[in-house]
Amino acid sequence: MADLQDLLDTIAADMAAIEERGRSADYIPALARVDPARFGIAVVTAEGHSFTAGDAETPFSIQSISKVFMLTLALGKHGDALWRRVGREPSGSAFNSIVQLEFEHGIPRNPFINAGAIVVADAVLDRGAPQGAIGELLRFMRFLAEDDAVEIDIEVAGSEARTGFRNLALANYMKAFGNLRNAVDDVLNVYFNQCALAMSCRQLAMAGRYLSADGLHPGTGHQVISARRARRVGALMLTCGHYDGSGEFAFRVGIPGKSGVGGGILGIVPGKASIAVWSPGLNERGNSLLGSLALERLSEATGWSIFNGGLSI
Ligand code: GLU
Repeated sequence: MADLQDLLDTIAADMAAIEERGRSADYIPALARVDPARFGIAVVTAEGHSFTAGDAETPFSIQSISKVFMLTLALGKHGDALWRRVGREPSGSAFNSIVQLEFEHGIPRNPFINAGAIVVADAVLDRGAPQGAIGELLRFMRFLAEDDAVEIDIEVAGSEARTGFRNLALANYMKAFGNLRNAVDDVLNVYFNQCALAMSCRQLAMAGRYLSADGLHPGTGHQVISARRARRVGALMLTCGHYDGSGEFAFRVGIPGKSGVGGGILGIVPGKASIAVWSPGLNERGNSLLGSLALERLSEATGWSIFNGGLSI
């Protein structure tokens, strides 16, 4: 496995030399301040070995990557009934688009666009108090990552709450269609806090392990989610995990992935590895520019693609 460490070191060095790094998200003021020169990558293999390179220990705002973990919690609470309130089709639209919602009567296309994630946050909230749902998610993330240092960045949560006008519009619109059970403010409180989870690449790769291990948490042997659901979450990551850039990511990288506007991407190689990469500069679709490139290099060099029958390494 020394090869994998060499490979990550080479990828990190190559990424450091690239000048065109994309643009940090600036619609959330607290994210606009993050240094675009940062790059980190972490891989945790099915055998439990971890490899890291670059800024893999620096916490960053995981933003929409949190939607994967909230979906896991919501499916645990509501099972397949959740699919009556949110679809499973790629949207082909931007992460914060409102246009499809009117045609589709307030039922968002999938759980990874913002509208869908707001419905999922409502399902996790489940008529409880926002602090309860936020605490539940934080405990879940600490358990998955086996690290009690995982925190929510309250500055980022506050920054987004002050500027999240589109999310407020989406939530109100779905409330009007009867697709939110709780008060809009409470749902958005949960949503903004989940997006503000701050995790390092290492912590995030650790947290994603259950998705590459048939739903099993390797550290404790606990079945986080059934193998069938783990496969389905992976399918949604592949088809919807990068918004209107999902096809391009599947084409270039070939593994399920979920991006966030903080510049992180979680990648899942079934039976092989959980990968987290972070570089704050985004491409025009709002996905990490160098993060996508690094994953493309990694999948090419290792043969890690769900479309590769042998899944080498
Ligand atoms: N908190 C962000 C928003 O709702 C999440 C978007 C993303 O990471 O893609 O605007």
